Amino acid sequence: MRHHVLVLLSVALVTGLAAGEGDAPAPAPKKSLGYSDTPIIPNQKWHVHDGERPQPRVVTPGTASTQELPGKPPSDAIVLFDGTSTDKWSGKWKIENGAMIAGGGDNTTKDEFGDMQLHLEWSAPEPAKGSSQGRANSGLFLMGRYELQILDCFENQTYPDGQAAAIYGQWPPLVNACRPPGQWQTYDVVWVGPRFDAAGKFEAPATITVMHNGVFVHNRLTLNGPTPHRAVAAYQAHPPKGPLKLQDHGNPVRFRNIWVRPLKGYDE
Ligand code: MG
Repeated sequence: MRHHVLVLLSVALVTGLAAGEGDAPAPAPKKSLGYSDTPIIPNQKWHVHDGERPQPRVVTPGTASTQELPGKPPSDAIVLFDGTSTDKWSGKWKIENGAMIAGGGDNTTKDEFGDMQLHLEWSAPEPAKGSSQGRANSGLFLMGRYELQILDCFENQTYPDGQAAAIYGQWPPLVNACRPPGQWQTYDVVWVGPRFDAAGKFEAPATITVMHNGVFVHNRLTLNGPTPHRAVAAYQAHPPKGPLKLQDHGNPVRFRNIWVRPLKGYDE
């Protein structure tokens, strides 16, 4: 845990991750609120209850979605799809009733992201059509390479490492938390990308934490590498940021309310 947090913190400090759209400056520290005659916290530079420690930035939280209406993203989120425009995407997926519908090829964000919190909502066509991998297949490719599977797995079985919320070809979700087709489903993801040194040498694998419809399905899971079909793949060096890609697998899966928050370190 500590190692993980330190890696995340140091990379965030070095790369100066992008600010969100509604980023507010952090309030000034208030020395008078704290102590300076207390011990130093292990592995940090701050005293216990240090009043000079930076105040956390203020974020106005969002609201939860309902089946009828998408929720509101937090104030510092980068909104990738709000139901009205596909400007942030390279693909030409059509919009209907506030939803972006898979069709016409994969759809990739114009911007690139590294470590992030991500929220995405999807809905499988109703009535359900096809079976196993043929039912509402899509997918979210983090950094364009690592697939968190999207599939209608409500009363539809397939190979477990290919079902909804699986890391495709590697790990099934801890549980199957699928809602029925036609209903909106949420993915909430914390993504920490793999690390490569300046020469491209592999340093650390990617990790992912996922909630599907509010249910934990991966808890700081380590990925083996990219996620091909019927194969195993090793990490290949790539930049610290990459686009998000939504898969068009020939099924008109709908999407709404997609946003990310680049992860920053503490005291930033
Ligand atoms: Mg897929």
